[in-house]
Amino acid sequence: MGFKDLIGQAELRRALEGALRTGAVSHAVLISGPPGSGKKSWGLALAEAVLCMEREGRDSCGRCLSCRQFRAGCHPDFFHLRPEGRRLGIDQIRRLRGRFFLEGDSRVCLIEEAELMTAEASASLLKILEEPPPRLYFILLSGRPRQLPRTIVSRCQRFTLRPLTGEEMVELLRQRQGLSPEKALLLSRLSKGLPGVALELAEDPLFEKRIAEASKLAYSLAACSQTPRELLFLAESLSEREDLSFFLELLCLFYRDALIYLLCGSRAPLLQPSAAERWAGVASAAALEEALALLQKLLQELGETNVNRRLALEGTLLQLKRRFASCPG
Ligand SMILES: [Zn+2]
Repeated sequence: MGFKDLIGQAELRRALEGALRTGAVSHAVLISGPPGSGKKSWGLALAEAVLCMEREGRDSCGRCLSCRQFRAGCHPDFFHLRPEGRRLGIDQIRRLRGRFFLEGDSRVCLIEEAELMTAEASASLLKILEEPPPRLYFILLSGRPRQLPRTIVSRCQRFTLRPLTGEEMVELLRQRQGLSPEKALLLSRLSKGLPGVALELAEDPLFEKRIAEASKLAYSLAACSQTPRELLFLAESLSEREDLSFFLELLCLFYRDALIYLLCGSRAPLLQPSAAERWAGVASAAALEEALALLQKLLQELGETNVNRRLALEGTLLQLKRRFASCPG
């Protein structure tokens, strides 16, 4: 995959393409960003471009022997390190060390989850970075760059991936999945602009079912359809959901869209026209705003360790019922 196949990240693209054009690629590049932000895709595109034998200015050609070997996963000068278990150990670096120092063509070493390097592995890498052999390039990827030794970070050219904008996400999901702009915008919101997360959601066969479930629940809570006893059962079954946080985020989106509809009359992708009318009949804007605050608070609590999910859910569901019960209609 070349840079031309990737979307967004204007700053990173400009810097890397400029460096490739002038032959000034840094011998150590650190690309950071949260899971799903596209670190690996950018790292691989950079590696492929560095190794390409017929580079067209600033991007790999995709056709030469090197590009074909790279795309087939068998390039002899590309070393791909990933943590083995929970650590990336000195042995993994040692196994490659000899090949790093061979003379000849460019060689690229991509290190995933670089923050998981042990102290010995970091020290060994640092030694190489202090006096890098010519045409050896390291691409470090990290979701937690603060956990990397400063001595290593200071020797890297650093880039942080940004979330994609709504338009970028629409383009990405149109190209890769042939999705409609409406669905792509919904995935953009749910994934918070992280392309890897959006693509995973797009491929999830249960995605539509989860949306329908969340829609039904968001509405029935707002309409106060459940008795307190039913809410306690509901809290118990929700607490067993593996996707609880995601599901609650979906509820938030419904409440946010209903709020926007009540305040501005504009319909967001989640609400069908008939549903928007129904929402206006059961909930007030003030109640929706409070419901959103309650759910955000719950999401925060669930992110903490040692929280009793069922109890936290019970509390929030009962508060939601109280709040929506005071709505007219
Ligand atoms: Zn090529």
